[in-house]
Amino acid sequence: MSTPAFERARLRTARELAGMSQAQLAREAGLTPAAISQFEGGAARPSPETFAALAEILAVPSGFFREPMAESHDGFFRSLRRTSVVDRRRARAIAHVAHDLAVRASGAQWFSLSDVPVLPVSGLETPIAEIEQAAARVRSLWRIPSGPAPNVVELLETHGVAVIRLPLDSADVDAFSLPFPDHPVVVLGTDKNDRARSRFDAAHELAHLVLHGEQIWGVKEVETQAHQFAAAFLMPASDIYSHLPTTVDWSTLFDLKRHWQVSLAALLMRARTLGRISESAYLTAIKTASARGWRRVEPVPLGRPEQPTKLLDYLASPDSGPARTVLPSQIVDSIETASAA
Ligand SMILES: [Zn+2]
Repeated sequence: MSTPAFERARLRTARELAGMSQAQLAREAGLTPAAISQFEGGAARPSPETFAALAEILAVPSGFFREPMAESHDGFFRSLRRTSVVDRRRARAIAHVAHDLAVRASGAQWFSLSDVPVLPVSGLETPIAEIEQAAARVRSLWRIPSGPAPNVVELLETHGVAVIRLPLDSADVDAFSLPFPDHPVVVLGTDKNDRARSRFDAAHELAHLVLHGEQIWGVKEVETQAHQFAAAFLMPASDIYSHLPTTVDWSTLFDLKRHWQVSLAALLMRARTLGRISESAYLTAIKTASARGWRRVEPVPLGRPEQPTKLLDYLASPDSGPARTVLPSQIVDSIETASAA
């Protein structure tokens, strides 16, 4: 029997999906940690018996190790400290499975290739005007009419971005994205039963895909830029400026929240950025909101978060059969369940 094809990066992905270290996997498989490290590094290939044993232990079909694998960087994770490395790696590995699904769905005509504009920032000190222009440019290229942005998750999916919600058994991981050129992946977090926040998260991840790509990530300035882009994308200055109150008028802000489908916090920040309210009025408003418990749960709930549908439609179709035979079924099922929740 000849040695089967083996995509070494898949071993790492399968191990991370299982939340195992190299040492743990080695123990389970009766191998040395060095052997696992060599398989993952490409210095050695598993024998057919070992290959089968690894698939069994990691609960993936053996075909999983034969699939080609797109590489990507570590993902735009926001709160690097809050989430453990194991949880972050598992989340990233789940995003890789979502990418696999998108590639399959695209091959079966259920999904289109990405046309996310790539408009890299000039650097970490990029003036906010440049970020505002980039957001306006994406809106114009995607023919989004003026006013509130429509369903952001649907927009992303329409433009070839695979969007999933993280399975509920996952740790509390913030939204993040992986910038694959064919189908970028946006993963929305587990914990946010909040439409306004979820829309902002989706726009924030879009910002990374547009502004940062594979270029720069992992520093605070990049997160600030993504927030600025999201605010400009959801609330273009020219459309919202004259509607923003010049004093902190909660009843107007409640109406604006309903109309623009963004949080009160995002509206207040936008009013400050655009110079409609002063810094001190902004700070007073934030203090008031904190005192009323609105920083945790805001008034004027907007209903359930936007839900991804494209990969779910594909998974519900008979066309997903071939993908299901090579991808880990429990992960695919959990993506399906979480995204439909
Ligand atoms: Zn980010």
